[in-house]
Amino acid sequence: MIDDLPPLREVIRNHDLRAKKSFGQNFLLDLNLTARIARAAGDLAGSDVLEVGPGPGGLTRGLLATGARRVLAIEKDARCLPALAEIEAAYPGRLAVIEGDALAIDPLGHLTPPIKIVSNLPYNVGTELLIRWMTPAQWPPFWDSLTLMFQREVAERIVAKPGSKAYGRLALMVAWRAEAKIVLHLPPEAFTPPPKVSSAVVHITRLETPRYPADAKVLERVIAMAFNQRRKMLRAALKGLHPDIETLLQTSGIAPTARAEEIGLEQFCALARAVKDNR
Ligand code: SAM
Repeated sequence: MIDDLPPLREVIRNHDLRAKKSFGQNFLLDLNLTARIARAAGDLAGSDVLEVGPGPGGLTRGLLATGARRVLAIEKDARCLPALAEIEAAYPGRLAVIEGDALAIDPLGHLTPPIKIVSNLPYNVGTELLIRWMTPAQWPPFWDSLTLMFQREVAERIVAKPGSKAYGRLALMVAWRAEAKIVLHLPPEAFTPPPKVSSAVVHITRLETPRYPADAKVLERVIAMAFNQRRKMLRAALKGLHPDIETLLQTSGIAPTARAEEIGLEQFCALARAVKDNR
């Protein structure tokens, strides 16, 4: 047992927390597993943790038991608040809960660096937040690492390498500014109720500065255009980017006949610089 609080099945029964589809609720009830996810986030001692979607608090308890200095949890479903208040009482001064939509709340004023983000989120919200956390106005961002549950197919897109089907915008956006790896695979039965697909936890550590120089907006545009028509040769897919795209591709070390899927991050950054310099 990781703490003296009741087992999660009892918490769910006591507070009548039947999972609702509308909130994307698939709960983790095994506290050994939630402690493992918390450990996958690295050493939490001395860090504040932002947790989005704590639900009945299984992962929250894992984070607190493994030593997070403080946890700030944002939960949309008000039914979960009494269960979370019990955890707050068991860990005085270490858990703060905000009721609301994580997509509409700026948590920054509530957190003190170093900050780690650890969450088991509904999948659609997770991808949207990942994109926001990876594309702030300023780099480095407010967080040091992200440890997030995704549906396995999305996790594979995040860590994908050139030449694979999963490789695309998500992998490049993350690889430009961070190091990402899958640290845990979970079958549907790990959740209550079980979702239709398998899941995986991705651990992302930020770099202090992007891996290769490039203007973020130009790089995003180049990558988006290249992968929007991923089956086309780049000279065709990127035609609208620059009147002499063929030359820019060549000076960036990219064969104009190559396809987006074959091009690595370094070459995309070189192309983004060439596009910017030749505007
Ligand atoms: N972390 C808990 C666990 O591992 O058992 C719950 C996981 S469940 C997949 C997702 C949680 O996110 C639910 O508690 C749900 O109510 C909450 N949620 C859904 N959308 C949200 C949003 N936009 N902002 C904050 N919380 C949200």
